Amino acid sequence: MAKYTPMMEQYINIKQANKDSFLFFRLGDFYEMFFDDALKASKELEITLTQRDGGEEKIPMCGVPYHSAERYIKALIEKGYKVAICEQVEDPKVAKGVVKREVVQVITPGTIMEDSMLSEDENNFIVSITPDQQDYILTYVDLSTGESFVSIIENNFKDVLSELYNRPVREIVLPGDFNDEMREELYHYLNVTISFEDREQIPDDYQYLVDNLSDQRLIRGFGRVFQYIYHSQKRFLLHLQQVEYVELAQYMKLDLYSKRNLELMESIRDKSKKGTLLSVLDRTSTAMGARRLKKWIDRPLLSKSIIENRHKQVQAFIDHFFEREELKEALKDIYDIERLAGRVSYGNVNARDLLQLKRSLSTLPRIKQTIDQIEESTIQSLLPDLKPYEAIFKLLDKGIAEEPPISITEGGIIKDGYHQQLDEYREASRNGKTWVANLEAQEREHTGIKSLKVGYNKVFGYYIEVTKANIANVDLSRYERKQTLTNAERYITPELKEKERLILEANDKSVALEYDLFIEIREQMKEYIPSLQLLADKISQIDVLLSFAIVSEENNYVQPNIVQNHSVNVENARHPVVEQVMKDEFVPNSFQLDQNTNILLITGPNMAGKSTYMRQLGLIVIMAQIGCFVPAHSANLPVFDQIFTRIGAADDLVSGQSTFMVEMLEAEHAVRNASKDSLILFDEIGRGTSTYDGMALAQSIVEYIHHHIGAKTLFSTHYHELTALEDSLDHLKNVHVEVDEHEGEVVFLHHIKEGKADKSYGVHVAKLANLPHDIIDRANYLLETYEATSSIREQESSEEQLTLFEEQREVKFTKDVEVINQLKESNLLNMTPMDAMNLLYEM
Ligand code: ADP
Repeated sequence: MAKYTPMMEQYINIKQANKDSFLFFRLGDFYEMFFDDALKASKELEITLTQRDGGEEKIPMCGVPYHSAERYIKALIEKGYKVAICEQVEDPKVAKGVVKREVVQVITPGTIMEDSMLSEDENNFIVSITPDQQDYILTYVDLSTGESFVSIIENNFKDVLSELYNRPVREIVLPGDFNDEMREELYHYLNVTISFEDREQIPDDYQYLVDNLSDQRLIRGFGRVFQYIYHSQKRFLLHLQQVEYVELAQYMKLDLYSKRNLELMESIRDKSKKGTLLSVLDRTSTAMGARRLKKWIDRPLLSKSIIENRHKQVQAFIDHFFEREELKEALKDIYDIERLAGRVSYGNVNARDLLQLKRSLSTLPRIKQTIDQIEESTIQSLLPDLKPYEAIFKLLDKGIAEEPPISITEGGIIKDGYHQQLDEYREASRNGKTWVANLEAQEREHTGIKSLKVGYNKVFGYYIEVTKANIANVDLSRYERKQTLTNAERYITPELKEKERLILEANDKSVALEYDLFIEIREQMKEYIPSLQLLADKISQIDVLLSFAIVSEENNYVQPNIVQNHSVNVENARHPVVEQVMKDEFVPNSFQLDQNTNILLITGPNMAGKSTYMRQLGLIVIMAQIGCFVPAHSANLPVFDQIFTRIGAADDLVSGQSTFMVEMLEAEHAVRNASKDSLILFDEIGRGTSTYDGMALAQSIVEYIHHHIGAKTLFSTHYHELTALEDSLDHLKNVHVEVDEHEGEVVFLHHIKEGKADKSYGVHVAKLANLPHDIIDRANYLLETYEATSSIREQESSEEQLTLFEEQREVKFTKDVEVINQLKESNLLNMTPMDAMNLLYEM
């Protein structure tokens, strides 16, 4: 006897070719899983594990009914798994031996198309990474929207992580020989599904998508991702748009750390949208707009003219209150045109989807009219020519019924008047039904039975029902008995059956015809996919710009002025997120870094507002460069090419690196990559190590930035000693956070002033935090002692070179002084070696 039954042999063969997916193996009404798949799936999906006779041994098995499979597939995809759908591809009745089966589609996190599995306001990217010497080619495809683009990351794998971080990337396709360590890092930082594909030829069908590229490296990158898509989807997708080459040099570079530290789209604490810049700016009305906004936040612009263009558009929407409200209303009626177009191409669009499309298109004239009211050329260009959309609207308006069911195989989806033959079938069916409806009254009169009824059921079709009490009055030469109930009899007549036959036949024919007509419309729609995609692009821009205008007006933001003289002057700025959540008034602060000032050294106690101040500038710069207005009275800003941050205690616990190591990595990254046009935000560099270590590093980093980079820099520190740098560094200015001290109580004013702070108030903060009195008192006492010894130290340091990097020196200082004095007093020349040993021992 063979080890396995023929069907299990078939299973094993298919599984062999789909090792990295759960194989959903169609068996009658179920998708079954076997062996390891079954063990794993039964746990992941909490379904019952059973066994099946597979030959010599019992095989673990579990399964899900095919009609509810979507739910289970969704659960597996959400967990990052892939699912290969294996169907019976021949009729079991005619099959000889085992029914032929094939994998018809592999569903993966990066290739899903089903609405229920996608999140509305987020793209769903599959990305391929192709190393090329020192560089990396990154190609993105979103199958749900059809967009795809490619960029080159030069030299540095870290930049690949930064580029992908925060993006809705669900799956990464790598060549089989990709570096293991890097693969681990991708998985670790991005938490994505990793797949492999070695083929790099563009599939013939997709050649036209890359016609606009000449760089073979980019084409190879697309080859990899398109091959993967082609072989998993096993169908040709018409809605994929021509690929776009994104030149990263056109956008502000935001590294992984800045994206995280500035909480642009995800909070550090719980990775949610709450408390992020996105949450403040997002007042979009459409899913397309919501996705667009994320893209803009992710890629602030560098071109002064494009930035200013967006500012103009926002201003125009602010100036036109009525039109803005009108547009906002109109956008509410617009569905996700971009994804609907995707489904037209994919072939899973239904009549309701097309109705949504029609409704969306019906608002266009209203939008056009409103936009025409705004006399600003940058706004006029926000709408494409509406002609093609009128044609689509007409087609859908004529063809698609007003309240269609979800299913496209049960009729009710095509409008009356669209097709003559269909109208005739419907007429026949309607006539038949009217005839039946009239029959009841006729027969009641004919038979004199007042309670006679005409009814319908699925098994017997139409019938005439007479209660038992009245059956004596039935003329059995006309009526034929069909069914007996407890207190009634049901009859049919030849005429009734003939009408029934006509009705059913007309129904069947019209349902079949409707399906054909629907498919015809759907095919016709395909030619409009590019137009729909263009419209989606425009609508999403209008949506985001409106959102900017609304937020800017509500929160009193001001249009930033982009300057070219390398200076920053922002008056009375606020933190866009903190000001929203504060119960008390937020204290505005200004930023003044003229051409000659590059570094602000910020001192002040903990909790005074230093890091809020620094983040504030980072966010304001990003807001300005994505085209939004900014929270300030006035803002003059240059275009920054990159932002680097080292803020807060975002410990990288997961990667097992210490706070200090993370701090140093972030600092290293910044000083290596920053240019004079960058913005550097360093909060308390050097805090993670011992005092002298930390202070020394902080000082040398400041000096390096000052001498070699010249970037605008906000540098906060609790090492007050560093404020002395103002004397030696021309481009550095001290500022501090003002604190009010009143009868031993400290009040934080959150107000930034020129000059240095004089105290650190750490103990006061501890008191605010309600630490026990004993601790506070003892700390105050210790503080006084330290302050006393540090004044000795200052005297000494002029005579004796202080060695930095010496950790415990501070605490032992008084002891040291004793030892030094003792050494000075002893008469070393007259000592025996033994005396010297004893003295040392004593010390
Ligand atoms: P630091 O970095 O100096 O330790 P933070 O920037 O973390 O201080 O600020 C501490 C708290 O003070 C913040 O949580 C915030 O609520 C408040 N705060 C900071 N800046 C301001 C401000 N300008 N106006 C009002 N409150 C502020």
